[in-house]
Amino acid sequence: GTRLPEIPLPKDIMKDWRNSSGIDLTDRETLMATAEAVNAVPFTPEGTDSVHADPHHPSGRSMASLDAARTSDDDVHSAITSAQAAYPAWDSRPVEERAAIMERYADLIEENRIELMGLIVKEAFRSIPDALGEIREAADFCRYYAHRARCDMALKELPGPTGEYNAMKLEGRGTWATIAPWNFPLAIFVGQNAAALVTGNTVVAKPAPQTPAIARRVVEIGHQAGIPEDAFKLVIGGADVGAELTGDNRIGGVAFTGSTNTARRIASTLLIDEERPIIPFIAETGGINAMIVDSTALPEQVAADVLTSSFRSAGQRCSALRLLIIQEDVADSMIEMLSGAMDVLSMGDPGDPSTDVGPVIDRDAYDKLMSYRETMRPRWIKTIEPPEEGLFVPPTMIGLDSIDDLTREWFGPLLHVTTWKAGKFKETIEQINAKGFGLTMGLHSRMQRSADVMRHLGRVGNLYVNRSMIGAVVGSQPFGGEGLSGTGPKAGGPHYLARFCAERAVSIDT
Ligand code: GLU
Repeated sequence: GTRLPEIPLPKDIMKDWRNSSGIDLTDRETLMATAEAVNAVPFTPEGTDSVHADPHHPSGRSMASLDAARTSDDDVHSAITSAQAAYPAWDSRPVEERAAIMERYADLIEENRIELMGLIVKEAFRSIPDALGEIREAADFCRYYAHRARCDMALKELPGPTGEYNAMKLEGRGTWATIAPWNFPLAIFVGQNAAALVTGNTVVAKPAPQTPAIARRVVEIGHQAGIPEDAFKLVIGGADVGAELTGDNRIGGVAFTGSTNTARRIASTLLIDEERPIIPFIAETGGINAMIVDSTALPEQVAADVLTSSFRSAGQRCSALRLLIIQEDVADSMIEMLSGAMDVLSMGDPGDPSTDVGPVIDRDAYDKLMSYRETMRPRWIKTIEPPEEGLFVPPTMIGLDSIDDLTREWFGPLLHVTTWKAGKFKETIEQINAKGFGLTMGLHSRMQRSADVMRHLGRVGNLYVNRSMIGAVVGSQPFGGEGLSGTGPKAGGPHYLARFCAERAVSIDT
């Protein structure tokens, strides 16, 4: 087999920070005790109606009810004014101080684990293991970016042929707008803001309108950790508040995670005004993520990894598997095994530790997914019975004639399945590439050669071989894609912070 050559890593990208260790939920007693504590966390939904807090309510959460918590346009502008005023002092603190504050932030997020998990379960309808995953990832982002900032923001002297003193340095750019999604209401929110802040920027942060309480609490914890209040401001609302924020000429950069369409809309507003400086835009969007399975794959492992990749978190991850492509010779037996495995999935309350698949985020998402499911004409369909009332979209496998029949991302527990013919491996990868997205891709095969071919041909940010396609780990599995899936740089990777910075070089005739 082919191995990657062993290249010694420069000291500064070797791992000398620690990933969060969390708690062990595979231990049943720990799981039950954690669930009890998490379910006891008090939660009052923001907005005007209690429907918001109840995934079993037939009408689900409505955007109108959330609008009550919206930040006014004036308050958005004054948040930017305060954050701008706070910038010079924050940026001129030594990087070591900001890094230490981020590490303290990680510690406090872990200390407040149960409360934050309670909010995640109740406000975002995420499962208990997913909520714990968010605590770990949020803490990891803080510690990793603290470590990276110490390495990346040091003055770099650049001796060379000019006979002068040459050096360069990364510095903050000003006030960033960060716009986070509801599917990782803690981890992605904290990650974007920690990156912007540790590099000396101040931020005005807009979480998704569905998850304001989680954001409010974790911003408060950030202030407690030592981030000045005016350096880390929060605004609440949907697309209109986002437009007010990104439309302000004083914003020095935008970091966004969400849909491809919204990314396009933001990018265009950044370019319209001739008075406006040209500023960096970081977008992490969706994908039509595919996995290829060949006849050498281990069926039980495929079944477990496919179910995790497509149905965990009710399929509401950018990284989730959307299109499974099985080698024709083994397709029938593989689909039968997957169907059997689906039958034992349990759907229900996110706070119940035995739930595998919870509800989707809101009524709007529910209606879109269900109407697609009801109106499409698949070759075959396999689904399970959902609970009677509420926002439960049942995990569903949808048989397609061809790879080309799936043309958009469906952000929920819907898995499209088709086949490929032996001898057409490269063509199959090209067909996936042709969709224009480039986030995650998967392979189940015991042939090293296939992994190598996919590594060279697959135009994706994250390639996963013989494992699931979700759950990228900060520092080891930097996450983010290309094409319609976003701009990069990858979150949790060694190049992320530089995009938040201005690069300044100085040359002195000596
Ligand atoms: N980083 C997450 C994962 O690897 C996905 C992030 C997202 O959905 O935006 O599963």
